[in-house]
Amino acid sequence: MKYLLILLFLINIPAPSSTNLVSDGYVWICTGKAAYSYHNNRNCSGLNRCKASIKKVTLEKALSMKRTACDICYKN
Ligand SMILES: [Zn+2]
Repeated sequence: MKYLLILLFLINIPAPSSTNLVSDGYVWICTGKAAYSYHNNRNCSGLNRCKASIKKVTLEKALSMKRTACDICYKN
């Protein structure tokens, strides 16, 4: 009987909630000197203006570089 209760308890463990708000924790940045924002979309028109290279970094890294969210791809 005790074993059955343990089994029921194990089955009732909730599935990990899936949050799609942050894609995978990565953002795109332009490495140019004048660039000041990070993007959630590699094809953002803000990134198209980038004359330096485009890098994929973690959001944490982008924030540590004093980047702010891009007005174009984060406006919704
Ligand atoms: Zn953008």
